[in-house]
Amino acid sequence: MFLVAVVNANSMMWGIFIGDGLVSLVDDSAEGRAVIRQLISEYGDSPGSRTILEKTYLKKTRLTGATLTGDKLKLAIGQAAFVGVRSTAVVVDGKSLLYMNSKEDAQQLLIALKQPYFANNGKTYFVENVQLADALTQKGNIVSVDRALDLVKNGFQTIAPYQVRDGDTLWDVATRAGLSVEKVLAMNPDLNSEQLKPGDSIKLTKTENLINVETVYKKIAVENIDYKVVEKQDSSLLKGQVKVAKQGKNGKKEVTYQIVQKNGSEVARKQIAAAVIAEPENKIISKGTRNLLASRGGGRLSRPVSGPISSGFGNRGGRTHEGIDITGRVGTGIVAAESGTVIRAGWYSGYGKCIDISHGSGVITRYGHLYSIDVSKGQVVSQGEFIGELGNTGYSSGPHLHFEVRVNGEAYNPLNFI
Ligand SMILES: [Zn+2]
Repeated sequence: MFLVAVVNANSMMWGIFIGDGLVSLVDDSAEGRAVIRQLISEYGDSPGSRTILEKTYLKKTRLTGATLTGDKLKLAIGQAAFVGVRSTAVVVDGKSLLYMNSKEDAQQLLIALKQPYFANNGKTYFVENVQLADALTQKGNIVSVDRALDLVKNGFQTIAPYQVRDGDTLWDVATRAGLSVEKVLAMNPDLNSEQLKPGDSIKLTKTENLINVETVYKKIAVENIDYKVVEKQDSSLLKGQVKVAKQGKNGKKEVTYQIVQKNGSEVARKQIAAAVIAEPENKIISKGTRNLLASRGGGRLSRPVSGPISSGFGNRGGRTHEGIDITGRVGTGIVAAESGTVIRAGWYSGYGKCIDISHGSGVITRYGHLYSIDVSKGQVVSQGEFIGELGNTGYSSGPHLHFEVRVNGEAYNPLNFI
């Protein structure tokens, strides 16, 4: 500026001012007004320029100096209005997004944007191409670091928040705005969603960040390896018998993930390495394959006597009935259910007169409450061979055969084998 500003009490001149600053002195106030009007018509389309041009005015002043006219006057006003001051532009994908006072301010902004997302084990970067450049701008465009942060995160438009009315629930408010409750909560982290009060304000729209920060980092986690369940055929068990031979045990592995976060929210995760710390141990289930009657190549038991079953196997009055009861008349013939060796033939406590026949591999059949025993211990019998007569001896409430099948001492339901 080539004005020499000194106070001269005797002469008042017309000055053109922007805000408090003198731009030029003019001899002719009408020309000055005409130049301002002309500039508004040429450059007033952009809101920033219009604001500044509308702050341009004429006033009598005691300041003195050379006066300007014509193009020189227009240039002086134009430069003062538009060219403005030196600044640092934050250029995002080639477009000047913000103007800041200095490079230091701009760098502070960039650090403040990244800092919350720094990760020990990775890197943090902007999604957009962000550069700083020297630029001239109108003074009014320059923003502070705080304001710049706000603009980057919330965009240039400020949206009036929703004021909660009596009876509103968060669900109502979100639904009316076409948003999910989760999204509204994400936008309003400080909101007490349980107790909305009339007058609470809720932010309902959020523009996209103007600069986005991505973080890529590695995360190591120790995770379980689930054990497998393996079935094994086991000829030492009867068909239908299932036993847990070995409990499973989960293994452990160290898994390394590469995680990508955008503005702090995870957007991708991929496993990049895994190392087994401890192998899992399979759970082994043994399934029986052995037919009860191996000696007969898988044959089944014969029914030792025909007749209705009056009492089945299993729970009876709180106790386990370890066989089945087949009713019949006293003296009815009883036959061996399968070939074997008689290992008991005599009175046996509550069973009364009782016969046990061993069929090998731990399998025996038992016949209780007999009226007569017609075999002796050590005798080998064939399937279907007569061994005694149905009776009512021992602890018995009426004539019947109590018939049991035991494998290694454990009672099984005989009906599964007949
Ligand atoms: Zn019984």
